[in-house]
Amino acid sequence: MGPDHLAVYLSNSCNLACSYCYVSVNQGPPVHLSLAALKRSVDYFLEKVEGPSKKITFLGGEPFLNWPLFQDIARYARARGGPGLVLQTFTNGTLMSPERLVFLDSQEVHTTISLDGRKAANDKHRVYFKNKERSVFDDVMGRIKGLPKDNLGVSLVFTHDTIDEFLSNVDYFYKMGFWRITFNPELYDVWPERKLSVMRAQLKGLTRYYKLILEKNLRPFQIQILYSIMENAGKNKAGLKWWHDCHNVVLGPEGQFYACDKPLALPIGKAEAQHVGNADTGMDWAKREGHYAEAIDFIEQRGWGKDETFCPMGVYFYAKEAGKDPEPMMANFHKVAEVFADGLLELVAELESHPVFQDIYVNARVV
Ligand code: SF4
Repeated sequence: MGPDHLAVYLSNSCNLACSYCYVSVNQGPPVHLSLAALKRSVDYFLEKVEGPSKKITFLGGEPFLNWPLFQDIARYARARGGPGLVLQTFTNGTLMSPERLVFLDSQEVHTTISLDGRKAANDKHRVYFKNKERSVFDDVMGRIKGLPKDNLGVSLVFTHDTIDEFLSNVDYFYKMGFWRITFNPELYDVWPERKLSVMRAQLKGLTRYYKLILEKNLRPFQIQILYSIMENAGKNKAGLKWWHDCHNVVLGPEGQFYACDKPLALPIGKAEAQHVGNADTGMDWAKREGHYAEAIDFIEQRGWGKDETFCPMGVYFYAKEAGKDPEPMMANFHKVAEVFADGLLELVAELESHPVFQDIYVNARVV
């Protein structure tokens, strides 16, 4: 099957400097995609899509830093892709406004604000690039407080030093009225065993919490990460190595396609070996396959790769280009990913027969 997702990294600039940022922002001169390259890439992607599902995600740096460019490409993609194309974006929220939300809704761009929780958790890792003392949390809250949340999502990253507050942070966003709440552990973070146990306990707490919401017929929220967890677990059960076959097309800020987004953690120009074509030439599919074959080999020779819930190849690509030893990074990745996936699969096993759960996660369109 061909690609179904285009991930566009609009620039390498951000007004924040989050400690765990997985793209290289504000390192070297600012680089922005041109509207012409963006349009060509959208056209190319839409030509290559074979199946019914197609999605474009706008990322950064901060995607709203160049708001006119964002508007132009969102309008273009919507017009070219029609109503069946899912558009989404992840923003840090510091540049959000009621007028921008009206525009995003008008183009049906599913918008997710990255926030790690209440002030203490959020501001621990999410800080301004040029003013570390100023609270990002306070600014984002000031901007989104009065906005309708029924079509807005929030995405939390938790680390070993914010995991203790995970469930209460989810509860905080639920009570703010967010419809989509998603979360991820920082998978490159080295988690002490004690903190992995806290993650297990917090995820058990999440299962109880979500169960209560369903049982009491309260407004549920959509946990976006569950879709891929459920899909990948289903494929694992069927004996499929789903992660061998990446459906993402990644466009970097300099107009180059990458085999995977993880090497974007290196400054522009430092991961040229990962370039697999560009907006003008299109994708070099054979080169891309070559990268995957190498990563698959590395992973499977070491006994990993069976029942993966998250694609492990990015760790290899990043480590290789960064000149690091992939093996300890991969071992850590597997340890953290397994605890996270097991916790969410327990939630699924416990709740999957509930009709509301079925409606949201089995019958609904995935965004
Ligand atoms: S807001 Fe996003 S892009 Fe900007 S530094 Fe933080 S994680 Fe990176």
